[in-house]
Amino acid sequence: MEIELITTGTELLLGRVLNTHQQWLGQRLADAGYTLSRQVTVPDNDPAVCEAVQTALGCAELVITTGGLGPTSDDITRGLIADLLARPLGRDESVASHIESFFERRNRPMPESVLVQAYVPEGAVVFPNEHGTAPGLAIEVSPNPFRAGGGPAWLIMLPGPPRELRPMVDDQAMPFIRKHLPLEQPFHCSILRSLGIGESMVEDMLLGPLRPLMDRGLDLGFCARIGQVDIRLSGSGPGMPAIIAEAESTIRGAIDKQIYGTDDETIEQVVVGQLIATGETLAVAESCTGGFLGHHITNVPGASAIFAGGVLAYSNAMKQKLLGVKKSTLAEHGSVSKPVAIEMAEGALTVSGADHALSVTGIAGPGGGTPDKPVGTVWLGMASRGGRPLAIRQFHPYDRETFKHATVHQALELLRRRLKKIG
Ligand code: ATP
Repeated sequence: MEIELITTGTELLLGRVLNTHQQWLGQRLADAGYTLSRQVTVPDNDPAVCEAVQTALGCAELVITTGGLGPTSDDITRGLIADLLARPLGRDESVASHIESFFERRNRPMPESVLVQAYVPEGAVVFPNEHGTAPGLAIEVSPNPFRAGGGPAWLIMLPGPPRELRPMVDDQAMPFIRKHLPLEQPFHCSILRSLGIGESMVEDMLLGPLRPLMDRGLDLGFCARIGQVDIRLSGSGPGMPAIIAEAESTIRGAIDKQIYGTDDETIEQVVVGQLIATGETLAVAESCTGGFLGHHITNVPGASAIFAGGVLAYSNAMKQKLLGVKKSTLAEHGSVSKPVAIEMAEGALTVSGADHALSVTGIAGPGGGTPDKPVGTVWLGMASRGGRPLAIRQFHPYDRETFKHATVHQALELLRRRLKKIG
């Protein structure tokens, strides 16, 4: 099946906004067995949007547009498509009352102009927008004037803001696509998420053992993220669940220690889930990550049940004052060292009363490196009630933000392994 995505927005072409829809939607579709064939980005002007939609309808069975559904003058998608398909716009009362109550609930005056979003092309299916005012729309183009032979196509229009588009896709557009454009064979997909092992190493270890299953139709893919590798197992047909299950057990047999989760799970979700399950609590002591570790933990709903809090001790003075790191330890070993990482974790454990504490101290760069401790060096510490403190040295010689990501993931992984009793 040909599927085309048209992202509209001059800001995307100017590089002011990163086109995350392409990546996010592409992944959502692929995980359900629908692969994007083409993606184009066009500016917010009539000829560009019209030409892109016509071209896409000329070859794709499913065309998805994003953006341009709002109330402002550069939001032109809905009107242009209505004209292009000769579907006059008519007021949809349920959308109009949703928009009115959206403003009422927020106690904000409603500009009349926003009601333009209640006008929908004739015959369009409306996807109510739970997080905004512009509804999504789906139109069956049949007969299709843009395709030789008139073969039908579905055109789905989605709002631009990611916080509106994403829930609409998950709750409404994907079930709609599955219903109206069913796959010939059931599709199955499973993702194993690994941490602490490089992409080529993962590939080297797995490709050979998985080859026989690939010969039976398994599609194997690797996706490297910062310090992580996702292993994607997918395929179609009734025998595929058994093939995927066999592949999973082969992979776990080879790198089980490194597999922290499946599908969309993040390492912070896994660790918070583990702590909730055991009823234990966590504190953190951060230097070079500047609160990023605490940020990750508190991104997980329910984290308050397990997260005592954190100490952000950037300077040596703060490390001493708030965490009880000894002046002599700092003088003897330097702030980026095993003993300091351990004293930071122990200090956080004492001050918080938590069951576990993680600490981070490192050199994010670009300055501050030495031959002994080059930029990217980081010590991760861990202390637990009734357990031996430990610290590991890591090396993440990247830009500051990537350094923080890699460091936080590794710190959480350290705790995951302790909680799972992985040596
Ligand atoms: P609005 O009611 O906000 O105008 P809309 O449906 O008209 O919604 P746009 O105006 O095209 O959508 O986009 C609104 C905002 O959504 C953009 O400024 C941008 O921040 C974000 N956005 C749009 N397209 C994308 C994209 N492809 N990737 C990431 N963000 C996007």
